[in-house]
Amino acid sequence: MSKPLVVITGASAGIGKALAHQFSGQGHPLLLIARRNDLMQSFQLPQTITCSVDVCDVSSFKLAIDQAVKEYGPVDCLINNAGVMLLSEADQQHPDQIKQMLEINVLGMFNGIHCVLSDMKKRKSGTIINMSSIAGRKSFPFHAGYNATKFAVHALSESIRQEVAKSNVRVCTIAPGIVDTELLEQTTSEPIKKAFKEWQATLDSILTPEDIARSVYFVYSQPQSVNLRELVITATSQET
Ligand code: NDP
Repeated sequence: MSKPLVVITGASAGIGKALAHQFSGQGHPLLLIARRNDLMQSFQLPQTITCSVDVCDVSSFKLAIDQAVKEYGPVDCLINNAGVMLLSEADQQHPDQIKQMLEINVLGMFNGIHCVLSDMKKRKSGTIINMSSIAGRKSFPFHAGYNATKFAVHALSESIRQEVAKSNVRVCTIAPGIVDTELLEQTTSEPIKKAFKEWQATLDSILTPEDIARSVYFVYSQPQSVNLRELVITATSQET
């Protein structure tokens, strides 16, 4: 029997790319969403539709999902992974950077949920996995905007989880520590980037995107009656 459709946002790089390979390796048809379509196409995964979509644009997000549903049937799992991290001293950060993080990390996530949740409720089945961060559980200097978005991910996920529990829909939040990806590269403050990299170099090891992908698949692959509501995952040597 063919496996159900999984939608992954932020699938062109880092954790999203590893998620795409993990879920494809398990035989799922995929809809991959990010802005850089050439990267997603280069993975050449079977049964996979790739769409250049900005998660902030709910209309094109919905069109992409409708196209994938026509091809592969209902969305069984949405992984809201797309995100940006723009670190800065609070007084130096341009408000546009805060706006950008809120739009992608929070409103983009709401857009994805909006596109799939009604149908999951009707079908009384489905899973939404929201990518937060350890920065969604504790605050760090220079992370004010990013912290605000990731705390919001925990809040919105838990609210919706309670709302849809009786509809047999799972909502799960993943909170990783440092993972080896391009995430820091978007930060424009060179001194903060440098300090972050120096701190990272003091750790014995950091997680790989594949570590997260395996863990997310474990969460998803539990029976539908079992919801791993929150998963905090860090390298063993990460103290904070
Ligand atoms: P990367 O920068 O490597 O990847 C980010 C992904 O998000 C890319 O595929 C990018 O694709 C996509 N993306 C960004 N903006 C948009 C947008 N507007 N619309 C669609 N896609 C978008 O970072 P990570 O893989 O590390 O990050 C993935 C998630 O994991 C994020 O939510 C991040 O906050 C979270 N996280 C990461 C940690 C880490 O240490 N790396 C730790 C904890 C959480 P494109 O540019 O092609 O649109």
